[in-house]
Amino acid sequence: MVTIKSDQEVELMREAGLILAKVHKELEGIVRPGISTLDIDKACEKIIRGYNCIPSFKGYGGFPASACVSVNEEVVHGIPCKDRILQEGDIVSIDTGVIWKGWQSDAARTHAVGKISGEHQDLIDRTRESFFRGIKAAVAGNHVNDIGRAVEDYISQFGYGIVEDLVGHGIGQEMHEDPEVPNFTCARRGIRLRKNMTIAVEPMINMGTYAVEELDNGWTFVSTDRKYSAHYENTILIREGEPEVLSLLPEEKKLYGVL
Ligand code: MG
Repeated sequence: MVTIKSDQEVELMREAGLILAKVHKELEGIVRPGISTLDIDKACEKIIRGYNCIPSFKGYGGFPASACVSVNEEVVHGIPCKDRILQEGDIVSIDTGVIWKGWQSDAARTHAVGKISGEHQDLIDRTRESFFRGIKAAVAGNHVNDIGRAVEDYISQFGYGIVEDLVGHGIGQEMHEDPEVPNFTCARRGIRLRKNMTIAVEPMINMGTYAVEELDNGWTFVSTDRKYSAHYENTILIREGEPEVLSLLPEEKKLYGVL
């Protein structure tokens, strides 16, 4: 079901988003060679609980951790593990969410671990940029699949693969609400976007093929060619004009030129 939030509910989602932006900023500071993906998860849970929030991922569908931590060829849903030690040159995606006063926010960032190759830095930067291109189309009166078309229009020039098996989603009191928000061009337009809808837009971009497969752990998706993959996500608020990005810090919004 697609839910339209009241202004009061939007205010709570704004608060949740700001907390999540702070969580990600703190996590960015601990990413370095030598730490494990479980170290990141433990820090994430501690930070989230420090803000009196509930880590929404923990136990969701049986997921064992507060963050999905996906390294290199892992696209999403990496399970934190004490034996997975980050190495110089890796890229790591951290996807996590909070519940604040019953309202959810969901966001992901991909970080370089130490010094990485130029091509992998480009992948991270272009994946983030594709989010900002996509949300330019996320305006009341447009259709939800206009977002994916804008992502694809930008990404196609690089020869990357846009993941199709996983998509963005509506968000509110539930982490995953309708509508689905694809990151690629669809034959159908999807539903019409309306003011005070809140959605999570989350391009997942692969260096090589768009194709992904699930590992035997029943969670983690990897690119089938094992080339690196990046993920960038924010929870946004649909408005009459350009959307408001709820899960970025004020200084990040200024940097990226968004509301
Ligand atoms: Mg999400």
